[in-house]
Amino acid sequence: MPAARVLIDGPSELVFDYAIPEGLPVVAGCRVRVPLRNKTSQGTVLALVEPQADLGFALRPLHSLSDPEPLITPTLLEAGRWIADYYGCSIESVIRALLPEAVRTEENSAKIRKTVVLEKDPPPEVLAKITKRAPKQAAILALLAHAADRRIPLADLGEGASASVKSLVKQELVVMIEEEVRRDPEADGVEEILPDTPLLLNEEQAAALEVVLESLRTPPSEARAPILLYGVTGSGKTEVYLQAARRTLDLGKTVLVLVPEISLTPQTVRRFRSRFADIQDQVAVLHSNLSQGERFDEWHRIRKGKARIVIGARSAVFAPLPDLGLILVDEEHENSYKQDQIPRYHGRDVAVLRANLEGCTIVLGSATPSLESFQNTLEGKYKIVRLPKRVDGQSLPLIRVLDMRLEAKKHKGGMAILSDRLRVALEQRIAKNEQSILFLNRRGFARSLQCPSCGQVCMCPHCSVALTYHREDERLMCHICGHQAIVPKKCPECRDPAIALQGFGTQKVEEVLAKVLPAAKIARIDADAMRKKNALRDLLNAFQARKIDVLVGTQMIAKGLHFPNVTLVGILNADIGLHVPDFRAGERTFQLITQVAGRAGRGELEGEVIVQTFTPHSPSIQFARHHDFDGFAEQELEFRRQFEFPPFAHCAMLTARSTHERRAEFTLQTLHRRLSEDCPPGISIGEPLPSPLVRSHGQFRFQLMLRCMKARLLTRHVQGVLGKITLPEDVTVVFDMDAWSFT
Ligand code: ADP
Ligand code: ZN
Repeated sequence: MPAARVLIDGPSELVFDYAIPEGLPVVAGCRVRVPLRNKTSQGTVLALVEPQADLGFALRPLHSLSDPEPLITPTLLEAGRWIADYYGCSIESVIRALLPEAVRTEENSAKIRKTVVLEKDPPPEVLAKITKRAPKQAAILALLAHAADRRIPLADLGEGASASVKSLVKQELVVMIEEEVRRDPEADGVEEILPDTPLLLNEEQAAALEVVLESLRTPPSEARAPILLYGVTGSGKTEVYLQAARRTLDLGKTVLVLVPEISLTPQTVRRFRSRFADIQDQVAVLHSNLSQGERFDEWHRIRKGKARIVIGARSAVFAPLPDLGLILVDEEHENSYKQDQIPRYHGRDVAVLRANLEGCTIVLGSATPSLESFQNTLEGKYKIVRLPKRVDGQSLPLIRVLDMRLEAKKHKGGMAILSDRLRVALEQRIAKNEQSILFLNRRGFARSLQCPSCGQVCMCPHCSVALTYHREDERLMCHICGHQAIVPKKCPECRDPAIALQGFGTQKVEEVLAKVLPAAKIARIDADAMRKKNALRDLLNAFQARKIDVLVGTQMIAKGLHFPNVTLVGILNADIGLHVPDFRAGERTFQLITQVAGRAGRGELEGEVIVQTFTPHSPSIQFARHHDFDGFAEQELEFRRQFEFPPFAHCAMLTARSTHERRAEFTLQTLHRRLSEDCPPGISIGEPLPSPLVRSHGQFRFQLMLRCMKARLLTRHVQGVLGKITLPEDVTVVFDMDAWSFT
């Protein structure tokens, strides 16, 4: 008789084996109630195991099943184990991600409603009698006879109906049932959904769909490669997703759609809702604003196969869809797919893993594929399908790169925010009643030094990333190798003494715009505006309705938006993202310019993009300008290969944090030493350094970069060292496998 190995709920990660009572259908993934000391606890069955023979005592039996069926499917449980192993986190933390709080908590349960049902008409003589003797009962019968499905919730029959209904039940004229009601997140009708119909695909789209269908037809036992759908902005990727999703449903399977962030991809979500308007109740949208009750209901609807299309952000990758046929990952290159809390998984990578375990099709879509995915296509691990043209026959917008060094000269060394060229372009749009979007690149807090007259940025001679300015000790430092340099008094290239830190904020931009464009209606999107519920949506709606001329925002509005009346897009400071101490800086800049440019000229009118930069010749800017992803990828991959960065190695960050600076630093140094002792070959260990953002939320942070071709080898080595070391109480150590943030 196998025993159940149970992970007890709670932070301590207790795992115990329990005997399974006769006849109880316990399998891995079940939720169970178990005795723990003298209390009852809840837990999750991780596996069924053979009990050890020589235990010397009998295992305690578990009490009962909390749910009749396992809540975690075997596949998801396997994915969970993989995540724990790969990212070096506890299985408990992964189970917590797999089973949302709302589902795990015992207090939450389905909402039950008592409903009165009239199953058959009462015989006429009975009815006559009731009408005379008990008019209230007769009235209820009459109501029921005319109700939809001949049923009415008890509560809707009004006060005092209970007694009459009870009597009717006794006479066997009606029955009372308990039905589960769904707490519908969309019940307050946020917006009307207009049904739409499939479009006639163009040749490239049809070919792309065919590749997806071919994969869908592959029997589950056969391997199938993930598909990278590389389609330029406006090439109609979403239409391909929609038609592939419909075909998957037709095959009796379910569909999972991942988007970078629900609130930033409203149009994609709306298009799914519209296309599947005929089966609206089978579409579940998971977003962070769901109440616990709604989340509980949606989760169980998905689990039971009632919701057959699930749209959600990162964590929806764990949606318990049965018979999964297709996973779509929209904007697969987005960093928001990487979770920045434990478990620090990457949603796209877990999606690929899940597709593999489920034996289903996966499509990764992007106009700017991540180099990780692209390299996988070059190595033949993924298939690539291209949509090289915009659907409407429109050409991609013209991108002009504007040399801000010249502007800085005009403004006599002052901070140039708006070039004359961009100002004039804005004025033209306002005169023609067309709209503009201005982007402010605000990745991090740009602490690199740049010369305003020649554009020179202080770079590390060893790593080809920008050196970071540390005010504390007036030094420049490389965040990869630790190289240090003194802060130059003059530009090392052109001797201009104006070399300075980069940066200005959205408010400043708005101020400048208001001054130079007094007649324009200007709106700004920033973190404050985002916090209010629906504020972003209202603003975007106002923009759609052309009530705003110029929209100023950060890259958060660069994604997925489709405004046909926007003909001008400006990027005010394309450099900022470029000179952060991150090997993906160039890739992010390329992506940003390409995505942002994709917002221009999506209607009848032609689009123009103006990119303001101090480094007009930087490759990522030039390749983006020529819409040349392949050229960019080739050069960037060469650089990554040479310096052993992803996708040619896995890159992890180890960070120590503490309110005590010395203790954080000392801990990291100790870890560095221990990691270096008997380090397995193939792992390269960087220097322990202060983080670029050395103090955050009152905590001092020190970090160390680790690289290895084999992710698990690296994770195990770090876990091994961490397991043997006792950390000071006030120091937290974070291990981030496949890190996406280096600040
Ligand atoms: P992407 O997701 O690649 O940026 P979209 O899917 O948003 O592109 O498509 C851009 C626009 O083109 C949308 O308004 C969409 O309705 C339209 N579209 C897509 N495919 C077709 C098609 N085959 N025929 C006509 N219009 C299409
Ligand atoms: Zn360096």
